[in-house]
Amino acid sequence: MTDSLQFPDGPWPELQPGWVWLCGTGPGDPGLMTLHALNALRQADVIVYDALMNPEILTWARPEAERIYAGKRGGKPSAQQRDISLQLVELARAGKRVLRLKGGDPFVFGRGGEEAQTLIQHQIPVRIVPGITAGIGGMAYAGIPVTHRDVNQTVAFVTGHDRQGLAPGSVDWPSLAKAAQVIVIYMGMKHIRAIAEELIAGGRAPDEPVAVITAASLPDQRVLETTLQTAADDITATDMTPPAVICIGRSVLMRQVLDWQALAAGEAPRNLDPLGRGRPAEMS
Ligand code: SAH
Repeated sequence: MTDSLQFPDGPWPELQPGWVWLCGTGPGDPGLMTLHALNALRQADVIVYDALMNPEILTWARPEAERIYAGKRGGKPSAQQRDISLQLVELARAGKRVLRLKGGDPFVFGRGGEEAQTLIQHQIPVRIVPGITAGIGGMAYAGIPVTHRDVNQTVAFVTGHDRQGLAPGSVDWPSLAKAAQVIVIYMGMKHIRAIAEELIAGGRAPDEPVAVITAASLPDQRVLETTLQTAADDITATDMTPPAVICIGRSVLMRQVLDWQALAAGEAPRNLDPLGRGRPAEMS
């Protein structure tokens, strides 16, 4: 696989022994990775990767590279996070060229900040390579623009989980309901009923459009279009399972015209003017 890739000419940065590069890999479709991440894969001695990353990407690594799975599913997250961070320190100290791969963007709800901080506290040199986060790339694959001039001047990215796995008490949902016209929730499936109730209590319309996107950008991507008051029941009824990003706001309506994957499959646009502007999109 590696040999078949025509990697563009550099100069590209060198992943040096003793360094750790912390790279995002995007939401799932390997084509959404950056060239810096691919450049890192071509050099790394050791790759430490997460559960929420498409493992296909690893076929682009050097065959002799060591691959270490650092999934955190089902264990004690905090202890495991410390172990992963310290393992990165050890690998770097052993003179390896270390690549830490994470799904999406490493600094978006991915604990990349903690890992990089641990490395720097241990005097390990790091490079951060951003990635396309699921809350933006996943929306785009569903045909939903996270901002649209006729809909929103703000967008909020929120986690539906706190450290204890509870709906985050640290999020002031009623204030958010008033402040952010579009809300994109990560890790929100488990608590969507409570979150929706809080947003409605905060003033959002019960029939406000909601999209739930699972396995975004992957072949098994699914999109559920629903509303705030029906989201929780519809998720159960359709057996939608995580990982999912949930978008709340009128920009979800744009999917009626922008669902480019459906168009590519030969379907007609459902509605060429879903926001009811009554004039061509190019006219302000
Ligand atoms: N750093 C990642 C987020 C990690 S938190 C990023 O920037 O995207 C994990 C959450 O991300 C999941 O619970 C889900 O809400 C979201 N997520 C990641 N990949 C996804 C995908 N392919 N489809 C839908 N949601 C995804």
